[in-house]
Amino acid sequence: MSVTDINKEHPLETQGPRFGIKKPKARYDKQGEIPDSERVEIAMKNFVRDFGAHAATYMESCIHCGMCAEACHYYVQTNDPKYTPIWKLEPFKQAYKREMSPFAFFYRALGLKRKVTVEELEEWQELIYDSCTMCGRCTLICPMGIDIAVLVSQARHGMFQAGLVPHELWAAAERAEREGSPLGATPKVFKDRIEWLADDHEVDIPVDKEQADVIIGMSSIEIMKYPESIVATAKVLNALKQNWTIRLDGYEATNFGLLSGNSQWQKDMSMKLINAAIKCGAKLLILPECGHAYGALRWMGANMYGKPLPFKVMHISEFLAENLKNGQLKVKKVKKSVTYHDPCQVSRRGGATPAGRTVLNALGVDLHEMTPTGDLNWCCGGGGGVVTIHRADDLRYKVFEIKMKQVNDTGAEMLVMSCSNCRLTFDDGQSHFKWDKTANSLLEMVADNLVEG
Ligand code: SF4
Ligand code: SF4
Repeated sequence: MSVTDINKEHPLETQGPRFGIKKPKARYDKQGEIPDSERVEIAMKNFVRDFGAHAATYMESCIHCGMCAEACHYYVQTNDPKYTPIWKLEPFKQAYKREMSPFAFFYRALGLKRKVTVEELEEWQELIYDSCTMCGRCTLICPMGIDIAVLVSQARHGMFQAGLVPHELWAAAERAEREGSPLGATPKVFKDRIEWLADDHEVDIPVDKEQADVIIGMSSIEIMKYPESIVATAKVLNALKQNWTIRLDGYEATNFGLLSGNSQWQKDMSMKLINAAIKCGAKLLILPECGHAYGALRWMGANMYGKPLPFKVMHISEFLAENLKNGQLKVKKVKKSVTYHDPCQVSRRGGATPAGRTVLNALGVDLHEMTPTGDLNWCCGGGGGVVTIHRADDLRYKVFEIKMKQVNDTGAEMLVMSCSNCRLTFDDGQSHFKWDKTANSLLEMVADNLVEG
């Protein structure tokens, strides 16, 4: 298969409602002019390089019970065995068996585990990127505790190094590394936007303070698509009389290095936020309504930094919950029935499942939980970078049907969530299905109902 020319065959569309590639067609993408055999070697080498004791234990402990299949929205909606979570790891597993397992020598000598081909890796691109949101639902269900989501994330490292990444993810990650933002929210664009928002909404948004107790990260989805969330953040922090700031040398919280599989770019992106927080002496870094941004800093930040972070990291929903609970923040009651969508990386993977509910409880809503809910809630299908990949749209809409049914079944008047990537996925699903439900932000709901003093 020839190398796809990203600019000629799939020109990037950056001005439309969604960043992506125009007129997508069924395709596997390759980056760089590397001979196929070399791609395989690079992928295998990097698969193996990432194996630690954990991954090896996971690989050895699968009892092939098949329980993870029913946990995965892709399998449930298609009944296609290729979408079984554990199958998504097959090339990764073959690399382990051939190169690292206790019987690797025999596997190789007796030809029991053949080398993976580039065609197989191309096909696996769909399984590792388009059809895994790294939502971790399978992880929760697996009786052996195998963290398939983390293994998929590790498998993406090998795929990236071999130049076998969906172009949209590659391009978004490369742009973020080069310009500081995947969606063009450069420091200048962000500064202009802040000035306009501060003016328009008559709200104080402090930028580049030399000393601040609290520093805010924002996601480029919010900056470019939901700028009201910047205003909402400012209103909440100002109401709390916090000494806070946004720093133009470190604000982008989305991490396409993580999503695409480039660990160096992941580190570069995380370090910008970490360094900005250290520079202004922040005691607290608040991460915005973005699920993977939370995971990238809250659970992986210290690894990137090489030691414990010298400040606390909270998701905005946790910060709201804490301040509503201790009475520092006061809100009016909202007399509506509401259902809450758990963002996978905030609830199931992040552990902040109760936070959204504490906030909704303070707002006095009539909460109609989905079935299942909380840590077992279904993924919206847009996480892990999947919403960026246009060729994955049909499959994504298929899995979104689960979500629509869940929401409709609650009979709630209002749908609320605390992740802008989920919100983007819901907005896109709403327009595709001409659905009558609109996704609302938890943060904006709080800001809209603040009680002064
Ligand atoms: S649920 Fe766990 S043990 Fe069972 S097949 Fe899936 S990964 Fe293997
Ligand atoms: S992490 Fe989520 S999307 Fe990926 S295989 Fe598991 S259940 Fe499916």
